[in-house]
Amino acid sequence: MKIQRNKVVIIGAGHVGSAVLSTLLSSQSLAEIVIIDKNVKKAYGEALDGSHSTAFAYSPNIQVRQGGYEDCADASVIVMTAGPSAKPGEVPDRVALTKTNLKVVKEVMGEIKKYTKEAIIILVSNPVDVLTYYAQNYFDYPKEKIIGTGTSLDTARFRRILGQKYMVDTKNVHGYILGEHGNTAFAAWSSTNIAGIPIDDFDIMAKDIKLDKEAIVNEVKLVGTEVLLNKGFTNIGIAKSVERIIQAILINELSVLPLSTTLEGEYGIEGVALSLPCIVTKDGVGKRLEVPLSLEEVEELKASAKFLRGVFDKTYQE
Ligand code: NAD
Repeated sequence: MKIQRNKVVIIGAGHVGSAVLSTLLSSQSLAEIVIIDKNVKKAYGEALDGSHSTAFAYSPNIQVRQGGYEDCADASVIVMTAGPSAKPGEVPDRVALTKTNLKVVKEVMGEIKKYTKEAIIILVSNPVDVLTYYAQNYFDYPKEKIIGTGTSLDTARFRRILGQKYMVDTKNVHGYILGEHGNTAFAAWSSTNIAGIPIDDFDIMAKDIKLDKEAIVNEVKLVGTEVLLNKGFTNIGIAKSVERIIQAILINELSVLPLSTTLEGEYGIEGVALSLPCIVTKDGVGKRLEVPLSLEEVEELKASAKFLRGVFDKTYQE
């Protein structure tokens, strides 16, 4: 079946899926959005609610509906948000979701493959790196067409925190959180800059401010939990991240985004998915960039890889 370049399927109509739907409803690049959930009523309600937004001025007239996996056949992008999240009151540990969400990925990938191997799949569900590795390597689906959102949200948080600290627009902060979307994530400080000025030099110029790198990275790692503890879930930031990736795919933007994919020898690492800056094209992930990292940062990346590999090996069963 011919792909509709402007059709997106969202799998999972929970907090994240509904926020992705809501965000995408203002996209000028889309004609159709279909939402799927094992809770059909929830997906139906979300789609119906979303469809009403199209009546307002400046809203594109996107067709929105609840659907089934057969809708993947001509989809350009599939966003996978199915499976539970950590809940307030539980230990906010993404890795604790591994066993449950590996099963969800198995079911969802099995269904998608019945209808397409053309669509680009964006994996959001956690632990996103472990699930991305599984989806990319166990389902005979083109690897470059499977992307984990990885540290795209952590990187957005990092840039926001630095932008607020130095009172500059977040979009003028350039730098990445890399590795795991989780506790072993690290900041690539050696390439972080504000408007081209290396962060250490920028810090010297900003006389009243002192850069505490460890405190910033800790804040990046803990702020998701802070959101979760206060509102019960996280969804707005990740939805914008998904929108950004979709935009890059739909218009073949060649954007560089920190995303999770299976490494193939970069920094001497393979057999595990984690985030590096990737060039995103209409065909998915085009290239992973080996940004210059300090020796310490390479060690942090390797620690992330070792941890993630361990989680998969410990949990995966045929
Ligand atoms: P949620 O519990 O609100 O929603 C999950 C939805 O998935 C539910 O509607 C449920 O019915 C559906 N579902 C479960 N199993 C399914 C299956 N087999 N087929 C179809 N639908 C199924 O959870 P949420 O808050 O929306 O979070 C969804 C996922 O996104 C979680 O794993 C969460 O950890 C993850 N997440 C990732 C990031 C990130 O940065 N990658 C950020 C936020 C949340």
